[in-house]
Amino acid sequence: MNELLIRGAEAVVTMDGARAEIAGGDVLIRGGTIVAVGQGLTTTGEVVEARGCVVTPGLVNTHHHLYQTLTRAVPGGQDALLFGWLKTLYPIWGRFGPEEMFISAQIGLAELGLTGCTLTSDHLYLYPNGARLDDTIAAAREVGLRFHPTRGAMSIGESAGGLPPDALVEREAAILEDCIRVVDAFHDPAEGAMVRVGLAPCSPFSVSRDLMREAALLARDKGVMLHTHLAENDEDIAYSLAQFGCRPGQYAEDLGWTGDDVWHAHCVKLDGSEIDLFARSGTGVAHCPCSNCRLGSGIAPVRRMRDRGVKVALGVDGSASNDAGNLIGEARQAMLLQRVANGADAMSAREALEIATLGGARVLGRSDCGSLEPGKRADIAIWDVSRIEAAGSWDPVAALILCGPTRVRDLFVEGQRVVRDGQIATIDLPRVIERQNALARRLAG
Ligand SMILES: [Zn+2]
Repeated sequence: MNELLIRGAEAVVTMDGARAEIAGGDVLIRGGTIVAVGQGLTTTGEVVEARGCVVTPGLVNTHHHLYQTLTRAVPGGQDALLFGWLKTLYPIWGRFGPEEMFISAQIGLAELGLTGCTLTSDHLYLYPNGARLDDTIAAAREVGLRFHPTRGAMSIGESAGGLPPDALVEREAAILEDCIRVVDAFHDPAEGAMVRVGLAPCSPFSVSRDLMREAALLARDKGVMLHTHLAENDEDIAYSLAQFGCRPGQYAEDLGWTGDDVWHAHCVKLDGSEIDLFARSGTGVAHCPCSNCRLGSGIAPVRRMRDRGVKVALGVDGSASNDAGNLIGEARQAMLLQRVANGADAMSAREALEIATLGGARVLGRSDCGSLEPGKRADIAIWDVSRIEAAGSWDPVAALILCGPTRVRDLFVEGQRVVRDGQIATIDLPRVIERQNALARRLAG
């Protein structure tokens, strides 16, 4: 089997149990697996010199809507709150089809890869004009990231008191049928899996209580994970109290939406008892700091969640509400936002990096990813800290979050190269960007 040695890094950040950082460190990979981490390792295979670089586990993104890379900086949505923002964008998204899903996903995945991500989830909850989850899975296979797509859904349209237009919602029976189809076709429970499928009704305000319950039962029957949006902002809490007579945490618990196999996006407005519920039940949180800032949703109580033992990960969220998909930038934003709320000692750069790597792997149930240790998958980011961004820094590991760079030099997923010398190595990115811009122009009419 092919060996590859990453040699002589300024620091290898292992994220192992002791959070060891190895100066002058090496990482030896065989096939898709890490076989050794240490100093002075040798190989007869390929050598990648990492002098002047920090080597970290690949970053993990736990919340995204890849299709939204086609609706960045849309004028009507630039300054709106969540519900108004959605109403501006729904009609545009209604004109998408399979090609829009495929190209926009390639753009989003490539951007994630360039910013250190090796494993990402995606939440696709609308399927207009023949679009399918399959389109995004095909995109991820070409780009080469490890992919956890979730089969999202909306079933309550405007005429039934929901938020989305009727044309964008599906029948609940058809949704469940397609959930079964995509799980059977694509989900791989094995260690080292490149694709795992989850079930993800869009949010409590766009599907019925029945669909939430049915999806939870189906996910447990199939052994797949559950994901949705929860407690994103004050409007969201008000909707829950008015429609369901309870807070989002209670709603989730009543319908089977808590547990080790569930993660919720945002959770900006969780109260103390909901945080305890999440900690007790092992329920995960995808924290999306840039999106929360962009939509004015608030500051998620991440410090409190982590102190109580809640599993917290990062999400860039969709590119209609970020509008960037820069994952290392998201880690920096997470750190800054906790400091705004709680003071300068509320989150260190190293803790932000831990949330971005190990934290993400834990939320997605990937005990085989998130750290650089023998036996783990070879998902590795190499960051060049010898250039302008980090020039003059005294601590290269902290510098990665405090200064930059915000792009990787090289990226490996399952031991395969995805980024080489700062460029995507797997797809013809300039051609994809050109196609993406043509599609955006067509959508803009
Ligand atoms: Zn979202």
